[in-house]
Amino acid sequence: MNMFDLSGKVAIVTGCDTGLGQGMAVGLAEAGADILGIGYVPAEETREKVEALGRKFHYITANLIDDSNKKALTALVDQAVTEMGRVDILVNNAGIIRREDLLDFSDDNWDDVIAINQKAVVFLSQAVAKHFIAQGNGGKIINIASMLSFQGGIRVISYTASKSAVMGITRALATELSPHNITVNAIAPGYMATNNTQALREDQERNKAILERIPAGRWGLPADMAGPVIFLASPASDYVTGYTLAVDGGWLAR
Ligand code: NAD
Repeated sequence: MNMFDLSGKVAIVTGCDTGLGQGMAVGLAEAGADILGIGYVPAEETREKVEALGRKFHYITANLIDDSNKKALTALVDQAVTEMGRVDILVNNAGIIRREDLLDFSDDNWDDVIAINQKAVVFLSQAVAKHFIAQGNGGKIINIASMLSFQGGIRVISYTASKSAVMGITRALATELSPHNITVNAIAPGYMATNNTQALREDQERNKAILERIPAGRWGLPADMAGPVIFLASPASDYVTGYTLAVDGGWLAR
């Protein structure tokens, strides 16, 4: 028995054209899952990687800031299930960060980040949970949190607010959905080399300070997300729910 096997499962992964979303989509496909991507940037590279593994890949184009309301997100998930025939796993990965001093922070930089990082997570989970319940054999929701679910951060107030909320949302969803055999967990990535952290990595002083503080001594990579997401998407984690797992090279332990 392979308790990490995802053969025959369908995973929805938001924001999988690049970065951590791509790393997780490819990891889930390696474990046997077919992938339904949702995002606003074409995901041809991810399609090639998933299809090269012999798995199906379908992509729905949507802007999760403009379409962060319940009606639009429900329609998106219904479309995904029609396309793939079912859904077993949801990875709420799409997210953005806006950097601005607290004293100047704008409405837009607040509203956009909260819309995609927080509101879309709740209403995508709600829509997918309804399908899990109708299908009758449970499901797995995995939210992408952050170090800023635990810490304050600098010049990123809406990001910190939204990612702190993701940890609470994960607990709240886990509590309500457990009776339906649905687990809800989060992964809190540490400092990972993606577009999201390009500005930090290009700032020599911040880059040096960050690297010196990571016990593993390196930035994380999209591939570092594969093992944890497979675990949380598979029967191996059936009695794990409401938990936020740090994948951070030891950052929080220090
Ligand atoms: P990224 O910028 O490379 O990827 C973000 C993804 O979200 C992309 O696929 C992008 O197309 C998608 N996206 C952005 N705006 C969108 C919109 N309006 N509609 C639909 N899709 C949209 O960054 P990443 O580092 O891969 O980020 C993935 C997740 O991991 C995010 O939730 C991010 O907050 C989180 N995270 C990243 C780090 C890190 O160090 N890179 C650390 C902690 C958490």
